[in-house]
Amino acid sequence: APVLALETSCDETAVAIYDGGLRAHALHSQVALHAEYGGVVPELASRDHVRRVAPLLRQVLDEAGLGTRDLAGVAYTAGPGLIGALMVGGATAAGIALAHGLPLIPVHHMEAHLLAPMLEDRPPAFPFVALLVSGGHTLLVDVRGVGDYRLLGESLDDAVGEAFDKTAKLLGLPYPGGPELARLAESGREGRFRLPRPMTDRPGLDFSFSGLKTAVLTSLPKAASDAERADLARAFEEAVVDTLCIKCLRALEATGYERLVVAGGVSANLRLRASLRERTRARGAEVFFPRQAFCTDNAAMVALVGWMRRAEGSPAVAALEVRARWPLSELCPVQRRPET
Ligand code: ATP
Ligand code: MG
Ligand code: FE
Repeated sequence: APVLALETSCDETAVAIYDGGLRAHALHSQVALHAEYGGVVPELASRDHVRRVAPLLRQVLDEAGLGTRDLAGVAYTAGPGLIGALMVGGATAAGIALAHGLPLIPVHHMEAHLLAPMLEDRPPAFPFVALLVSGGHTLLVDVRGVGDYRLLGESLDDAVGEAFDKTAKLLGLPYPGGPELARLAESGREGRFRLPRPMTDRPGLDFSFSGLKTAVLTSLPKAASDAERADLARAFEEAVVDTLCIKCLRALEATGYERLVVAGGVSANLRLRASLRERTRARGAEVFFPRQAFCTDNAAMVALVGWMRRAEGSPAVAALEVRARWPLSELCPVQRRPET
């Protein structure tokens, strides 16, 4: 029973179809559109989603060899995100659902990130600890099943992705900064700058990343050379990775779980992936990531959640609903196991 999904929460327009396996997916990134402004311009994002969504729908249906009559439901990212951008995907999904008498399935964007590793060949079993690190969120979650989420910790200020992007800007790197900073850090030398590991010297699972950005600013030499900027990028990346690793291991300790799931845009970071693999293995635990392309926003993860929630008999929602803010912990556990 294939579920079609639309993702338009921020600056990626994406469409996918899932039916127990991923049938097709397509994505258009608006990065170039927003680059000259140094960040996402909400109104431009909405308008570009309007332009892109229909051709992507066509493309994905063709690729899957399906027509709208073959669908069992239409899922869409209902929040959190930019309200105008969310409305575009939501209204499109609602239109298709209405025209074909299909259930409309609202999906929580962070639940989609969280379950994205289940698209891979070796999906993690429940329960697990999830670290969600994206442009807008830094969350540690106790995950006991689909929809069964207990918040263990979160950032008290900047999200990790946001800290990457702001620090990249300080270092004179183009938007979007996260991947650029990671690239610059590759040529940086280890140990040339020492930055703090915020909030690791006291118990607890919360994070704070805004001080790290300030520490970079105060460490940055006047008229810094390219090499010094690379060294500082390296130090920043290492401080973030070390901090995240410490808290993840602490969360595994606190829950007694043996599995860690890491998702969201920053989970694409290679140093983070390598460190977490090494440090979880050292304590007999295992870490799971989405493939690189599904770390950042995509519709495959939305289709997966839409399919799970549809298959597990959650009530079909007739009316279009979008929410700019929507805490993950408000979701309800899905009771039944998915049909195949
Ligand atoms: P949210 O999911 O919280 O609503 P978002 O959808 O904007 O936010 P994502 O698309 O999941 O966020 O991730 C984008 C973020 O990931 C950006 O901040 C970007 O800089 C960061 N990012 C992407 N790749 C890397 C990388 N290799 N290293 C570090 N950060 C990265
Ligand atoms: Mg994005
Ligand atoms: Fe996202």
